[in-house]
Amino acid sequence: MSAEARNVVVIGASAGGIEALQRLLSGIAPGLQASVLIVVHTAPSNTRGMLTAVLASHSSLPVATAVDGQQLLPGLVTVAPADRHLIIDEGGKLRLWAGPRINRTRPAVDPLLVSAARHFGPRTTAVILSGTLDDGANGAAAVAAAGGTVLVQDPADAAYSEMPRAALALVNAATTAPATALGRLITEAVPRRVNGSTPRRRLHEEHRMTEHVLHGSKGVPSRLVLSCPDCGGGVSAVADGLALRYECHVGHSFAPHAMAAAQADSIEAALWTAAARLQEHAAVQQSIAKRMNNRSSWSTRRAEEAAAESLSAARIITEQLLPALLSARDAPAIASTDRSE
Ligand SMILES: [Zn+2]
Repeated sequence: MSAEARNVVVIGASAGGIEALQRLLSGIAPGLQASVLIVVHTAPSNTRGMLTAVLASHSSLPVATAVDGQQLLPGLVTVAPADRHLIIDEGGKLRLWAGPRINRTRPAVDPLLVSAARHFGPRTTAVILSGTLDDGANGAAAVAAAGGTVLVQDPADAAYSEMPRAALALVNAATTAPATALGRLITEAVPRRVNGSTPRRRLHEEHRMTEHVLHGSKGVPSRLVLSCPDCGGGVSAVADGLALRYECHVGHSFAPHAMAAAQADSIEAALWTAAARLQEHAAVQQSIAKRMNNRSSWSTRRAEEAAAESLSAARIITEQLLPALLSARDAPAIASTDRSE
């Protein structure tokens, strides 16, 4: 592979990210000597051809949807398709992977960035754009640890600043800029690429997520302290410096804020289930009370009390616990104070 073919620019975006991507792409000069790979979080049903067209209208480089087995091509912008993780293998081939959702999404940003860091090290430029929660932060940390460059959309310029802030909290050396300026920074960064392509650290020992992606799950983690919000399986915490993720034994992987959000979703579902069961229980107790009405005042009273207690408990859940949970969840997960200036 030529040196240019080993230059990769890996970009992650979520909510508010399309507009940022358009501004970024419009700033990239024609003839970029690097492959550009993009992951945008979208619903599995979304039509990818639409996204490709929307980005192509703002790009001087050609834009295409990724194909499994495709070789990296300098000057081409490649977009992950719906419902597949996009990763790069060591030979510079793109792989599409229908593995477990990572950070509650597929495609996810982290596996693309981790695979680029692993195989292309200092030749990697990672870019984190607008989005909620913290997908991409661990991947950006892996790129920085491998000697690559990390660019982050200025949180003040991002429609949703959590993803940029989460990346900045982990990567002190990151450069921030408005999306409009990021294309120029990418163009400037790529020709300065060093010749070596060996990552500074043995990332593959520290990033089992990529192992999952490339080779499938290898055994059960030793610590089972949490359960996976997606499958209920055991979860272990995998720490690498500041970067932290939670990973279950079938491969669902969560950055910390994504884990907390997924847990909040499963708590909400459990509370609604409990409220529904309590109302059903009250209905059965009321029917018992009705049938007993003329035969046993004691049984009737007992069933009526049980029905009233169940309805009261259901109301506590729907009128107090759920609103408290939802208002806590609506607060921003990643505040501007998360990064010391
Ligand atoms: Zn799982």
